[in-house]
Order: sequence, then C-alpha cells, then structure tokens
Amino acid sequence: MVTEILPVNGQSLLKAKKIIEGGGAVAFPTETVYGLGANALDGNAVDKIFEIKGRPNDNPLIVHVHKDFDIESLVYDIPDYAKKLAKRFLPGPLTMVYKSRMTVASAVSCGLDTLAIRVPSHPDAQKFLKFLNLPIAAPSANVSKHVSPVTAEHVFSDLNGKIPLILDGGKCSCGIESTVLDCTGEIPVVLRSGLVSREMIEQTVGACGEYAYKQGAPARSPGMKYKHYSPTCRTSLYFEDEADKAVAEYLSETGKGNRAYILCDDKTAQKLNVGNILNLGSSPEQMAANLYAELREGEKTADIIIAVAPNDDSGVMRGVLNRLTKACRGQ
Ligand code: AMP
Ligand code: MG
Repeated sequence: MVTEILPVNGQSLLKAKKIIEGGGAVAFPTETVYGLGANALDGNAVDKIFEIKGRPNDNPLIVHVHKDFDIESLVYDIPDYAKKLAKRFLPGPLTMVYKSRMTVASAVSCGLDTLAIRVPSHPDAQKFLKFLNLPIAAPSANVSKHVSPVTAEHVFSDLNGKIPLILDGGKCSCGIESTVLDCTGEIPVVLRSGLVSREMIEQTVGACGEYAYKQGAPARSPGMKYKHYSPTCRTSLYFEDEADKAVAEYLSETGKGNRAYILCDDKTAQKLNVGNILNLGSSPEQMAANLYAELREGEKTADIIIAVAPNDDSGVMRGVLNRLTKACRGQ
C-alpha cells in the first residue's frame, strides 16, 4: 500500500471520507499528537486500528467528534461538573469518560460500559471531523509502545505502507496526549495527566481526584498497564538533584565509544558541561511540546538517551514527567 501525505483541503478531505466510509483508517493531526482514525460505528474498521498499531486489544480507544456533535447520542448521565469543564476547556486537550449508550462498536471501549470522548481544537482536526460528521475512534498514530507522533513524518516513519493517507497539519502544539478524566462519579478523577492539569480542573469545579495505578491490579484506565512512549535506543533516567550521576553515565558511555545524549530542560542544559544535549526548553508547556520530537530525533543517532527530569510534579509538569519517566525508565 502506498501512503500519501497531503495537506488538509477539499481534495484530501474527500479522499479521507472515501477511505473512512469504506472501513479504512486515516491519520490526522490534533493539537496533542497525530491520531489514527476510523469510523467508531464500524466494528471491522475499529479492529483494523488495533491490527495496524499492534495495540493490545484491552486498551480502549478515544472517540473524537467535532464541536457541534451531539455527544448525548453516544453517552448519558453527563454531570453538571462535566458541563462546566466542557464549557471551559473544549475544544481542547481534555478527554472525558462517560457512561456509554453502546451506540459505537463495542471494540472501541474493549467491552467497558464507558466511553472516552474528545473534541480536539486543531482546526484541521475540526475540518476532518466536521466533513465526516461521524464519531471517529482514534488512538495515537504510532506503532504501539513507540513514542507518539507529533509530525506527519513521524506517522510516516511508523506506518508507511500500512495506511493509505496521512493528513498533514504541521507540528502538534501541545505535544503530549490529552488529559483523560473520569466523569462517571461524584467528582471528576484524572486517569491520565496532560495539558489540562488537575489544578486547572479544581479551579473550575472545586474538587478533582487522581487515580494511581497499582501494578497487577485491574486498571480504571487500561492504558496505564502498558509500557509506552519508548524510543528505540537504550534510555536511563535521573532526577535534577542527581544530575552528577547522569553526567557520570554520559562520560562512561562516551568513553566506551557510544553516542550518548542528555535530555533535559534548558536550565539543566546550561549547568551541565556536556556536548550532546536534547534541550526541551524552559516552561512545562514548551517541554511537553518538544518531548516526543526530541526523543524521536535522538533515537535516530543515539545509543543511549540519558534523561534528567525536573523535581517538580505539579500542574502541567505532572503530565510531562509521566511521559518522560515512561519513556526513559531504563530498558
Ligand atoms: P491513546 O489512544 O493511546 O492516547 O490512549 C487512550 C487512553 O485513554 C488510554 O490510556 C486508555 O486506557 C484511555 N481510555 C480510553 N477509553 C477509556 C474508557 N472508557 N475508560 C477509561 N480509560 C479509557
Ligand atoms: Mg498512544
């Protein structure tokens, strides 16, 4: 199969529509990461997504809809706090989990009685979803467990020959996956952290919980069980206060003739006296936007990426830290 990369316009949207209505999958840009979308109403099309990615079939998919889509046709029991949050943060990088009406194919939720819904803000995602006017099931458009794609080229390097079309909307501005929020209880509960932080949710609706997955237990958000976001080279991880250990490992690796990179924020980069740096920038938002692009750039030439993570676990940094530790916690 030939994989085309096209900008979003009338012609490419017609192609995308034909593919999706024919039961195929198309990669499309969102503000978080690129998605691999298929018709959520078509069970065979949804199965294809799992096949193409090599995704475990108990890790449910998020359904993407345009901003005027009637989500009450898909889910019910939408609490008042969720309506407030939707008003403040949607369209945007916040996925909300509700009770499912089971109108989409059961494979989307892998048999759960809930459904995760997202309304992306990327203008090209909105154009694509509006043009199709269908609920589109979409995980990230990468091979399962690899680093999520934030450019059309990243999608191409993972899925070339496996999908017919990649809609190119430039580099994703957020850079990490959406916040996933369980909206089926008395108060919202963060299942996966992202650019809409727990603090921002608390400021809007007063209370917000956070779910911590324990190894071996059944997961409220099944994706938590899996290894994720890993580059193809070796990795290791240190925190800011042990940066000297990161430098020691860097020197030991380069001494052995290996190509090592230190991945860190700008402040740490200025302090460390090493040649090969993957610089994530300064603010948590910049770090989120750069993380996957730097991991994918690094893995092209590095034998090992040595991450130095900030000691800050609040706000947006929490999401960055979650992805960084999953990607670099050694292999
Ligand atoms: P990905 O599509 O790879 O960005 O991952 C989607 C994330 O959303 C995974 O962590 C899933 O476990 C989570 N998710 C999707 N649907 C549900 C649901 N119905 N309930 C809880 N978590 C969900
Ligand atoms: Mg993913």
